[in-house]
Amino acid sequence: MKNEFNSFKIITKDGLVFGHYNPDGSVKITKGSYFRNHETNTLLLDYRNKRTELINNNYVNNGIFIKDYVFKNSREAYCCCYGRQDNGIAKFYTIDNIELDVYLKQFNDDNQKILVCNVTWMENYSGKEPGSNYTNWKYVKEHGFGHEFLNFYNNEGYYYGFTNMNNGKINIKRIDENATGDYIDNVLIVWISKNPSGGLTIVGYYKNARVYANIQPYELNIDGYYFKAKAKDSYLIPVENRKFEFPKDRSNRPGQASVWYADNDVLKQDIIDYINAVDNNRLHFVKERYYIEKDDESNIVSTSDITSIEPTYIPEYIPVKKPRKKENSSSSYVRDSAKAKGAIIASNFKCNIDESHMSFIAKSGKPYMEAHHLIPISAQDNFDVSLDVDANIICLCPNCHRNLHYGKDIKNMLEGLYNARKKHLEESGIIASFEELFELYK
Ligand SMILES: [Zn+2]
Ligand SMILES: [Zn+2]
Repeated sequence: MKNEFNSFKIITKDGLVFGHYNPDGSVKITKGSYFRNHETNTLLLDYRNKRTELINNNYVNNGIFIKDYVFKNSREAYCCCYGRQDNGIAKFYTIDNIELDVYLKQFNDDNQKILVCNVTWMENYSGKEPGSNYTNWKYVKEHGFGHEFLNFYNNEGYYYGFTNMNNGKINIKRIDENATGDYIDNVLIVWISKNPSGGLTIVGYYKNARVYANIQPYELNIDGYYFKAKAKDSYLIPVENRKFEFPKDRSNRPGQASVWYADNDVLKQDIIDYINAVDNNRLHFVKERYYIEKDDESNIVSTSDITSIEPTYIPEYIPVKKPRKKENSSSSYVRDSAKAKGAIIASNFKCNIDESHMSFIAKSGKPYMEAHHLIPISAQDNFDVSLDVDANIICLCPNCHRNLHYGKDIKNMLEGLYNARKKHLEESGIIASFEELFELYK
């Protein structure tokens, strides 16, 4: 599998990066991290062997990793390391403030209930497309669409999923042997499809879904639905990022059937690791409002706020804890105007779209520019780190600034700004694809 997603940094509370959770499910632990010193007879033989291998090949000395090491998966990493710490207490925290042990354990759940569903290839499954030419399924060929075409249509915060069951019933006991009633909860639904070039790939997922054994009536789809999940727990992977490759060996993997009950532990774990990597790298937001319209309407920080001109401003690109919300407000976060002023100073009072853009001269004698948060602060709820950081604040001439907020054709200018800031945003723990950013401006 190619490295299509950004790796997810594992960061201590004090900002030290001691590892990366990689898109292919591997975990890189950097030197200086602590070797896990615990009794090994309860570990699977593979992990005991891994520990011996690390010691014998001089990766570890005095309980500390002296070289970087990439573990095949998080289970391996969890069995072999603690991470880096400076104060003698072996506790580490991810950027989410989750203790490392807890964090890695969540990827180690052999009990995850999972169902893999085969659907027609579509771009957005939101009712906007007629279907696909890339299928051999009889129904789709005859009717021009599959009824999974609404699987990612946001209906009041929920998705209602359909897959074409030939015998009309899902065997929920094969997903959870303890299942009793008509449905089960907390299932990971993995949507797969044959892509236009012929390979089978993962197109999206529902987490924490409810699965019904029998079809449920649905006012929007005459065929009904089997699966229900919160839209915010679900994700449709953009077409260009659908890269998961199923093994070439066709035995014991999904085939033509509508559903596959994941009765292959190795492949099941590969799928879960992949989905966790995707999930860690996406912006968890559901579009419920126009973020950009609500952003910075009042108190725009501009050249006029810079009374004493600092000779320089050195931007810092590190993850910062989320700011607190303003009192008596459910949606507004406290902003640090010094950072916004810094963005203008660091850009030398020139527009980040094009340095040649003319503005007028402010009373201070400097060109009038305005600060703007590339990812709107009104989207802060969707991030675990602060958006009010140097990486995310840009300097714009007033015309470009109003254009970004109210203009019609802003995709190119937004993409230019995004590409210029992408690396620094990632260094600041802010992970968002361009498509996700663009959504916030629509
Ligand atoms: Zn703005
Ligand atoms: Zn401009």
